[in-house]
Amino acid sequence: MRVGISSFSHETCTFCPNITTLEDWDVGGMLYGDDALDTEGQGKSYITGFKEAAHEECVELVGILVARSPRTVGMGSWLTTESFEVISNRIVEGIQKQMPLDGVLLALHGAMAVTNVARPEAELCRRVRKVVGRIPIMVTLDLHANEDVELANTVDGVFILKTYPHLDGHEIGKIAGKCIINTIRGNFKPVMAMRKPGIISASVYQASEYFPMKEVYDRCREWEKKGVYCASVAPGFAYADVPDVGASVFVVTNDDHKLAEECAQNINDLLWSLRQALTRPLPKAKEGVAQVLKMVSEGTKPVVIAYHDDRLGDGTHVFKELLEQGAKNFCTTSIADPKILNKLELENQMGDTVTVKIGGWVHPISGPPITVTGRIEWLGPANWVETGPMGRGARRHDDLVASLDLGNNRHVVISNRLRAPMSADPLKALGLDVDSYDIVEIKSRVHHKAYWDTWSAIDFPVDPPGTTPADLSTLNYKNLPWDIYPIGEKWKH
Ligand SMILES: [Zn+2]
Repeated sequence: MRVGISSFSHETCTFCPNITTLEDWDVGGMLYGDDALDTEGQGKSYITGFKEAAHEECVELVGILVARSPRTVGMGSWLTTESFEVISNRIVEGIQKQMPLDGVLLALHGAMAVTNVARPEAELCRRVRKVVGRIPIMVTLDLHANEDVELANTVDGVFILKTYPHLDGHEIGKIAGKCIINTIRGNFKPVMAMRKPGIISASVYQASEYFPMKEVYDRCREWEKKGVYCASVAPGFAYADVPDVGASVFVVTNDDHKLAEECAQNINDLLWSLRQALTRPLPKAKEGVAQVLKMVSEGTKPVVIAYHDDRLGDGTHVFKELLEQGAKNFCTTSIADPKILNKLELENQMGDTVTVKIGGWVHPISGPPITVTGRIEWLGPANWVETGPMGRGARRHDDLVASLDLGNNRHVVISNRLRAPMSADPLKALGLDVDSYDIVEIKSRVHHKAYWDTWSAIDFPVDPPGTTPADLSTLNYKNLPWDIYPIGEKWKH
């Protein structure tokens, strides 16, 4: 038995300024054949899960293509039509060459947005279907997926993460892997139900271990105890302006339409009942930082400030407030500014005192550049092995990163691009004394919580201007469904 494996995954922020080209993808790298299945040093993933399922069942996996993150990583906007066409063709031709296969497993994201291709994941699956015929095709998705019936109509199984921070890629990969193997053997007949509850929500409200999403995932697990093979919910990715944006429910059972429909409807109704909890106002930078300083002065510390909507990495709103409001003992963990970083590398060395103007260069929404004077306490590459829950065991590397000591135990890290530490490791790699801080500012929505909630007394999200705000009504959508709650035309009064 041979199962083809491929991965082509992108969470496209269509409100970010720079498009994602084929060159961006090729610089990120394409892995073919056995290299596509080599997960050494990368931590756990969907593919390690596929591999474990295949190993237990003595099935051969055939690596087709794994597209690594493009050069633009998280800040990339619309994929060009060319990039989608070329990479899809590489996948389809790779599969064609390996036929006959008995099944195909695709690790996708679900929030890819491509110019001229309305539903890229469904489109890719249709193209794969054309060359493989009636063998099972199953996909795994991130829970930030925007999908609808077109995907359900094309594949035999959809399996979505249940954790945000995302910690269960391996488990979901294994569930999908076992399902496809049993389906090929004739021991399982996948039947799917799907619903689209018509809700759009900001990522910052979607943490899986907190209300309201915890209720949803607990409900999924209850149905799985009652015989559903896998109940999946994607709350969706609001920052891709695509026609299938918003939450979706996918349920897979073993040959039981009635159970699949009952489960999908029940979870759909639960999501609808929780729709108001999926939006709540967050403080802006000024009032947020003031509240944090008050908490610290009253002994509630350390605090993590989640600067959740700075996807471009150059945002200065929170850093500016920390400086102006007289905060001490803090670390701003990333202001992206490659120009300044390269200038420091050319002209300076560790120990120098420098005055630099950092951040606020990609887009006016990021805030003004900030001038600071400090001693260079780190300047150069950084290497570490991730020990936190996110990507545990992965080897990480930064080509160039700097940290400035601004006095009064105030620190700012200058990076090439958005650098959100998923644990203390990326800061310790720069020699920073993390436990001496009262405040750590991280440009992340939820992922950082997997580690930092164990370190901090409180995680405090703020909502300064940014490309991925909590208040979605501030974004200029062009493809929004008419009836999507709470910002579709239907809900405007
Ligand atoms: Zn995600």
